[in-house]
Amino acid sequence: MSELQGISLTRHLDSILEEFKSSKTIYDFPFNKMYRGQFSADLSVNFHGTQVATPLGPAAGPHTQLAQNIVLAFLGGSRIFELKTVQILDHLEIPRPCIDARNVCYNVEWSQELSLKESAREYVKAWLLLHFIRELELLGVERSSSLYNVHFDLSVGYDLKGISSPQMTAWFRQMQNARELIAEQLSELPSRYHGLKKSKIPTTLSNSVTLSTFHGCPGGEIEKIVEYLMGDLGLHVIVKMNPTLLGFERVQQILHHDLGYAHLVLLPKAFETDLNFEQAVAMMERLQAKAKSFNRFLGAKFTNTLVVGGEHSKLPGQEQYLSGPPLHVLAMEALHKFREKMGADFPVSFSAGLEAANVADTLACNIVPVTVCTDLLKIGGYTRLNKYFKNIEESFAQMEVSSLSQFILKRAKNAPDLAQAGFVNTRDYLKTLAKNSRYHFEKNQRLPKKSEKKLDFFECLTCNICMEVCPNAANFLFPVASQEFSMSDYRWDGHTFVAEGKFSITLEKGAEIANLAEFCNDCSNCDTFCPEVGGPYLVKPKLFLEKNNYEKYSGQGFYLEGNTILGKFDGAEYVLKFHAKKLHYEFISEMGTFLFDEDRLLSFVAKQERQRGDRAPLDKYLKMKILLTGLMKSGRYGATLLHRGQE
Ligand code: SF4
Ligand code: SF4
Repeated sequence: MSELQGISLTRHLDSILEEFKSSKTIYDFPFNKMYRGQFSADLSVNFHGTQVATPLGPAAGPHTQLAQNIVLAFLGGSRIFELKTVQILDHLEIPRPCIDARNVCYNVEWSQELSLKESAREYVKAWLLLHFIRELELLGVERSSSLYNVHFDLSVGYDLKGISSPQMTAWFRQMQNARELIAEQLSELPSRYHGLKKSKIPTTLSNSVTLSTFHGCPGGEIEKIVEYLMGDLGLHVIVKMNPTLLGFERVQQILHHDLGYAHLVLLPKAFETDLNFEQAVAMMERLQAKAKSFNRFLGAKFTNTLVVGGEHSKLPGQEQYLSGPPLHVLAMEALHKFREKMGADFPVSFSAGLEAANVADTLACNIVPVTVCTDLLKIGGYTRLNKYFKNIEESFAQMEVSSLSQFILKRAKNAPDLAQAGFVNTRDYLKTLAKNSRYHFEKNQRLPKKSEKKLDFFECLTCNICMEVCPNAANFLFPVASQEFSMSDYRWDGHTFVAEGKFSITLEKGAEIANLAEFCNDCSNCDTFCPEVGGPYLVKPKLFLEKNNYEKYSGQGFYLEGNTILGKFDGAEYVLKFHAKKLHYEFISEMGTFLFDEDRLLSFVAKQERQRGDRAPLDKYLKMKILLTGLMKSGRYGATLLHRGQE
């Protein structure tokens, strides 16, 4: 596996601007699906002092780690971002694959794969890119509009020792005042961006945190962490609750009996070691008083994923974290039960099986923010958010309301205020959930369609699904001529190479898929949804942005350097240089150097002994030539990044 990495702000900016100019897309996200205030439903809410256009956003996870993920979620209409959870242990080995979202979703990933320093940089880059999109009015909306406002919510774990460590404390301080990091990033922008370099960028990247604690973290420790975050650091805090607080019997009833997921093994130990409901309520009551004394906001999030055992996914290990449709039912019940005890006005956020079909119902429960993860891993990826807004608009129209508060109030009929209305709506919604087949096992067994066809280096259905479902935008298209690329096969006759027969690669689609190595963390989600057999991230050409990453990599990979491409196949290394003046291609292989005028062999310089009949490795030449010419031609995203790497 190659190492996940962010890229420079300049590369992002070059890529965004060039791609937007050439195709009105950003990281392949189309303009017509961008959230530009085109919907009549007013979803604006105030969250920790920022008026944001929507209460929606990605949950801490695969959609909030790299800068481009956050930009993509923003384009879809997210405005509250729960950044990927960070913790003191920032060099974790996460098992791969780590996500299985074929129907419901299982994962074995948890906190960041980047170091604390790299995570901070990614968040600052995303912050800057969103401000540049505003400054340049790329959405076609005036920069003064609140439509561009965003809130970044930190997510941290997992214990007091780590969270209160000097490294983590320094990290929080940087997020609360990112002046230096912002200045550092701006100073690296080249002079052609002199206007943006002078932009006035707010330096408070975040003033809030959602706390994620391990399953089994004692209540006393959670309290101390919250006190530290509020009292010492001055942050607003949301505590993420585990679905286990419903108790083993209730979870078993809902999951196994009501919803039919009887094959999922519940782990009694997880219920014993997690806070139970009474403990969680008592803890939050004590913390409420503390929050008041610190003058900070305290909220609760419903919920974390549910730890389950058994053989039901393609992930390694005996335990996995469940999310998606069944979690929606569990989390909604936990939320309602909690509000019954803590009061309808206790602030809650939500993340569990959110999708276009239930987003309006969820918003009616008066929840901020409402976050999403599993659904964005499905076909359509970040663009699926567009349907959320269409559905919300439709629900508003049916109720003849135009704002979120009107929607919540009107739905609850006679509720005296927003908090009570949200409570009533949750209660009513909850009554429908266990009966709704949408959340049942029978409706969530279907696997993504797979053909018999084996995925190949070039030529596939070119359905673009692997591009949509990748949270990191690691897969991209580059143009190729639709034609049969054919050339002579050369064999050694004892003295020289002689042409003997032909071989060819036929490309019909006009474009080919490639994978950007530094953006890919081998999560395997593109493999899950690719209709052909074989993971695009494993089979398609893997392009490296950094030469040292290419050099370290032992698998099949490529690195573009001006008019030259370096390539590795089966452990052997190859170089293909295009000499533009003479239109010659120079191919350096383990056998020697071949010079071609297009596909006619002009000369050959031997490097090693050969046996009569040895075949020149020209299949590699042809593949690399197609790659090189395609990537040099492309003005689009992936290749733009590759080319900018030369500067
Ligand atoms: S690699 Fe698979 S998912 Fe990607 S375009 Fe080809 S067929 Fe579609
Ligand atoms: S390219 Fe595939 S394996 Fe790599 S990050 Fe994207 S979805 Fe995951």
